[in-house]
Amino acid sequence: MNKKTIAIHHGYNKDSNMTMAVPIYQSTAYEFESAEQAANRFCLKELGNIYTRLANPTSNVLEERIAHLEGGVAGIATASGQAAIFYSLANVAEAGDNILISNKLYGGSITLTTYTMKRFGITAKIFDVDNPESLEALVDDKTKAIFFESISNPQITIADVDGIVEIAKKHKILTICDNTVASPALFNPISHGVDIVVHSASKYISGQGLAIGGVIVERDGLTDFFKGNDRYYHFNEPDVSYHGLVYTDIPLPPFCLRLRLNLLRDIGAAPSPFNSWLLIQSLETLSIRMKEHSKNALEVARFLKSHKKVKNVSYPGLESDPQHERAKKYFTDGQVSGLINFDVEDFEEAKELMDKTELFSIVVNIGDSKSLIVHPASTTHQQIPANEQLKSGIRPGMIRLSIGLEDSADLIADLEKALG
Ligand SMILES: *Cc1c(COP(=O)(O)O)cnc(C)c1O
Repeated sequence: MNKKTIAIHHGYNKDSNMTMAVPIYQSTAYEFESAEQAANRFCLKELGNIYTRLANPTSNVLEERIAHLEGGVAGIATASGQAAIFYSLANVAEAGDNILISNKLYGGSITLTTYTMKRFGITAKIFDVDNPESLEALVDDKTKAIFFESISNPQITIADVDGIVEIAKKHKILTICDNTVASPALFNPISHGVDIVVHSASKYISGQGLAIGGVIVERDGLTDFFKGNDRYYHFNEPDVSYHGLVYTDIPLPPFCLRLRLNLLRDIGAAPSPFNSWLLIQSLETLSIRMKEHSKNALEVARFLKSHKKVKNVSYPGLESDPQHERAKKYFTDGQVSGLINFDVEDFEEAKELMDKTELFSIVVNIGDSKSLIVHPASTTHQQIPANEQLKSGIRPGMIRLSIGLEDSADLIADLEKALG
């Protein structure tokens, strides 16, 4: 089935009321028909609902829909994108292990991996996402995952996905790709051999800035990948916290199963059924919206490129952009999402510009139907010293736009006025 169709129909079998819309199962727990059934559910003899921290029928529709859209076999919805990233890394790495992270990541992912996870004994080593060869020198026996973003936020760098996957396969290391900026409508990392895809559903999947959420998707075939792979011994040995279950011995997607049975059970960043329901509504229009976001962004980027006060425009959909070839390789019909970076003269001019726009709201979010503007150097990256900012691609005069679904002529007129 085509992605547009999947986004509307997949994963929902109407209940006895035949409701057209997916119902919100706003319930904490589920009754068992008998003591026997209760016992069977707990030992996985029978799959079914127990408690919403572990699974919920509304959230299950979201999980199955996004998993299928991404070309995966199983999905897990979480309370936020950050929870999805933490869970997918913590599902393979433990104290004493290391993970390899891209040098161009979302701010929250940088602090999570370099500071918070370090407190749990997991070390992050940084590789150059433009040069996957840099991974070779970092890999060791304790390396459990390679983590990167397909399009990085805020630098808008398109990863050399094939290059990264090639090295990961050579060393049999799990790849985890944050596909938030591209969304499942524009790019599917699994089709390039990536093992796990994570999303902040709070951005383009939500599309109107209505709910925080995250999703984890697993590709088919991970049982074979883990089986006998010493790096992932915990998938091959009995799980003492789950009466000796060996994840590679049963015919279920092992990554999501272990994550649900351990991390959702014990740490519990489960989504609210209401938020899952909101995300299901917006998923229906994802493909249409991503097309419009991309089209609008290209038009705004072309305008900025032609403006004398604008020093530099970064939008991979522009023919003149250094990343255009890579955009053509991984994306179709020039649709590369709605983020644009551009530079004005200096820090002060950039900061002032934010106040001069009227249609653009000063917001650190992305992926809303409303256009958003932010000056990273004075906001999101303010705490980072200037030289460190430069290393992660944040220049003093740089502005990031998240182009919404307004008419592009109105957005251009607003920017033209603000630039003066
Ligand atoms: C926003 C974002 C996150 C974090 O997601 P939340 O839903 O806000 O927790 C992770 N990765 C990227 C690329 C993001 O843009």
